[in-house]
Amino acid sequence: MVSQLPAQSAHLVKLAPSGQLAVAVVSNLQRSRSSSGRRGLVSILLSSDLGTYIRRLLARVAEKACAILRPYLGLGYREVSVSPDMADRLAVLSRKTLVLDLDETLVHSCYLDPDTHDNVGCSQLPDHAQPDYVLNVSIDPMVEPIVFRVFKRPHVDEFLDCVSKWYDLVIYTASLEVYATQVVDLLDAGQGRMSRRFYRQHCRASSPLVSKDLSLVTPDMTGVLIIDNSPYAYRDFPDNAVPIKTFIYDPDDTELLKLLPFLDALRFTKDVRSILGRRVIRQHDNRSTISSHR
Ligand SMILES: [Mg+2]
Repeated sequence: MVSQLPAQSAHLVKLAPSGQLAVAVVSNLQRSRSSSGRRGLVSILLSSDLGTYIRRLLARVAEKACAILRPYLGLGYREVSVSPDMADRLAVLSRKTLVLDLDETLVHSCYLDPDTHDNVGCSQLPDHAQPDYVLNVSIDPMVEPIVFRVFKRPHVDEFLDCVSKWYDLVIYTASLEVYATQVVDLLDAGQGRMSRRFYRQHCRASSPLVSKDLSLVTPDMTGVLIIDNSPYAYRDFPDNAVPIKTFIYDPDDTELLKLLPFLDALRFTKDVRSILGRRVIRQHDNRSTISSHR
């Protein structure tokens, strides 16, 4: 009976379990040679659970293939060996500290709010988006853990590999420690590159958003810089800031790659503020971007 559910009976097919539907599709492929039959099969596939699964699988495969092929298509970062003169220069400079924001800089996360049942941070994600990590985070032991879906920014692994060779890395996030520590552990993959971490409790409470206190990281402001998508985060240390565009979901995002040549060069400066302090931020630009950042 199932094999007779073809084309014209899409409404019946929707009621069939996926396994039966697969049988129907195979049978139809074998029996139907007419163009209308083929159109019917396409219609069945697109409107069924199996079709949804196939579309998501293909989208996932395409994303992975693009990630693998990008270096061969001209994207990536080519490191060159440091000349003897520059090596001497590095030797007399202290190794600098690179402070990294987490959410919307390295990753984007969304979750189901247990109280309101709202999907927080999910509205701008396409249906086929598949998270890199799924975390159960227990914020309140009296309440069910919250499930976070975490999406890595494209090229974040290559970025961390490069900058960890040049700088001491520090994570500084306004997020809760119980959530952030799980995400950073997964990003670090046991390599110990991001063992120094600062969380929400280390932020300055300033209205309307919190800011980050780089003096907690190091007393030496000549050798510390912060990459953060939120201008509020570095409002007290603008001469140590490297802004970055907010990341939600974009498989073609290359913002982290774009920063690598600049970060590679900046480690040779005596005082990062002599470079970063040259940037003039218009107050209007600052205000207009703050509302969409966290
Ligand atoms: Mg952020």
